[in-house]
Amino acid sequence: MSLHGDYDAGNIFAKILRGEAPCFKAFEDEVALAFMDLFPVAKGHTLVIPKRAAARNFLELPDAEVGPYMQRVQRVAKGVARALEPDGVTIFQFNGAPAGQTVFHLHFHVVPRWEGEPMGQHGKTPMADKADLEALAAKISAAITAS
Ligand code: 5GP
Repeated sequence: MSLHGDYDAGNIFAKILRGEAPCFKAFEDEVALAFMDLFPVAKGHTLVIPKRAAARNFLELPDAEVGPYMQRVQRVAKGVARALEPDGVTIFQFNGAPAGQTVFHLHFHVVPRWEGEPMGQHGKTPMADKADLEALAAKISAAITAS
């Protein structure tokens, strides 16, 4: 799927937003929802998606939504850092299939990093253990709530 086209309301993140598919939630307010990536490239890999806009990618996010959404991305990143105490945090985001995007509802990836531990290859990692994801989501959520 290229940069141009219509938003498909049947995408998996739209289903998660509507409560039609499950997720392990780390944060939610009126602007954004954050949940654990099912195929993490590192322990604690979290996705942050906007709730109000049907934006397939960052270029489609309305101007007025950019600031509030990016505040939530930073808030989640700080929560991940507080909860898991990594040595670093990688934040990335893809626009369009040729750029590496596979789910076409805008999302930022927040990935905690540890010294000497390479990140897994995007799209090539196995599904995580659901009990682990549940525990990580609870830990990150508690760290965000406490901030
Ligand atoms: P993209 O490639 O679009 O930047 O990232 C999509 C991300 O969504 C990938 O990291 C992938 O592992 C994750 N993902 C794909 N399907 C699901 C799902 O059903 N639930 C969750 N939580 N993550 C998913």
